[in-house]
Amino acid sequence: MRALNRRLESRYGVARKPRLDPLDELMLTILSQSTSDTNRDRAYEALRARFPDWESVRAAPRADVEETIRSAGLWKQKARVLQETLDAIHARQGQLDLSHLAALRDDEVIDYLTSLRGVGVKTAACVLCFSLGRAYMPVDTHVHRLAGRLGLIGPRVTADRAHESLNRDNVVPAELRFDFHIQLIRHGRAVCRASRPDCDACVLEDLCPKIGVPGAV
Ligand code: SF4
Repeated sequence: MRALNRRLESRYGVARKPRLDPLDELMLTILSQSTSDTNRDRAYEALRARFPDWESVRAAPRADVEETIRSAGLWKQKARVLQETLDAIHARQGQLDLSHLAALRDDEVIDYLTSLRGVGVKTAACVLCFSLGRAYMPVDTHVHRLAGRLGLIGPRVTADRAHESLNRDNVVPAELRFDFHIQLIRHGRAVCRASRPDCDACVLEDLCPKIGVPGAV
């Protein structure tokens, strides 16, 4: 694992991500589904510029939220999830604040967030890792695909189950989880793509069993 991470770090540079408040991170991650980081960030910044706080987003007409986040794609679905999530948090906490999560265990944070309709394990893991600074690796489509090809998870392990296996079974050492998550996403976008991974140009070529890669030797 350390060799894999070192190779990826030498190729893509050290991973960095600004730490956001847990509610900000949750909203940002909801916007990130099936879009690029650039479009996600554009939608998030538009939302923050148009509405002074999350309470204003919660109270806004749905059409205004949809219009503001169009750059993120799936704007109708995402606007609904954003507002329903804000409603649910307000109903439970009496305010729009998730700072209480800092006092919970990792599994309790995952349970709390995934009990909100529309919030999945990967989104909860992003809050845990990026906002709360926990050693917990989110598994998105790139991480799931690369973990399978590299033989870190079995061929039939779903992305949700991969969270348990990569984190709880200590497949990825705790101190590497944040970095490795970022590096696998970078590598999945640039080289180890879903179709036609460029194994000949890959810095992991001699370390990778290429499981499930068509035509791999
Ligand atoms: S060798 Fe091929 S399958 Fe393995 S990580 Fe590199 S691009 Fe992906």
